[in-house]
Amino acid sequence: MSAIFDLTGKVAIVTGCNTGLGAAMAIALAESGCNIVGVNRAAPADTLRRVEAAGRRFVDIRADLSSIEPIADIVHSAVEAFGRIDVLVNNAGIIRRGDALEFTEADWDAVVDLNLKSVFFLSQAVARQFVKQGGRGKIINIASMLSFQGGVRVASYTASKSGVQGLTRLLANEWAAHGVNVNAIAPGYMATNNTAPLRSDAQRNDEILGRLPAGRWGLPEDLAGPVVFLASAASDYVHGHTLAVDGGWLAR
Ligand code: NAD
Repeated sequence: MSAIFDLTGKVAIVTGCNTGLGAAMAIALAESGCNIVGVNRAAPADTLRRVEAAGRRFVDIRADLSSIEPIADIVHSAVEAFGRIDVLVNNAGIIRRGDALEFTEADWDAVVDLNLKSVFFLSQAVARQFVKQGGRGKIINIASMLSFQGGVRVASYTASKSGVQGLTRLLANEWAAHGVNVNAIAPGYMATNNTAPLRSDAQRNDEILGRLPAGRWGLPEDLAGPVVFLASAASDYVHGHTLAVDGGWLAR
């Protein structure tokens, strides 16, 4: 059974893996056998150490995905290092908060450019490489509860993450014929930098915990099983799905 989850020798690009959910997913993929191409703005020292401790290689690419300019180089560097790409995890993402009546163009563009535009163009560049390799490959986008729900004071984030769910379906439809699986993981309320302001607001923190069937914030490690599943042969017939890993939040 474990053979269908085995990723030995596979090559995974993970964006934003110096911290939080991306770090945990890169480490989980490495522990299942992947070499990792990490795309980060800041040094991913701890992730690199843990990937190497798992006996895998880590190629450290420094890039700012707020524009699509670095994308060609990212794919080129990955192929130069390993000769191929098997998995892409589009994890890098940001959030900006503000009332919709006051929301600025800068806060709109910053979020949509990184969370949606770069996700599409990096997926396109990697899928072209998959096709060049003869097909097959796995793309895993990181969605959100706000792919399903509206939220408040996060207009550009909700637009971007709802867009990620739609894009996941569209790309799955177009690329399934190439043996490429495009799916998404929608994390619930996870304890990372992204949610630090929510957790430090005692009232919001209590409201969230009170509504969560699991009764606790998610941990980055809670994404380990889902990301390995979606990167592996175990999910070969899963296309266009957004898998909530949310402690039951959406079931309420
Ligand atoms: P985080 O802030 O700890 O990590 C975000 C990552 O994105 C970091 O590695 C950061 O360096 C990278 N990043 C930011 N801007 C970048 C840029 N311009 N270029 C390249 N990399 C950039 O937060 P996280 O919670 O680990 O978030 C990871 C993903 O999970 C994001 O897409 C986020 O929207 C999503 N998410 C998080 C939660 C949660 O509860 N924490 C819930 C749902 C979805």
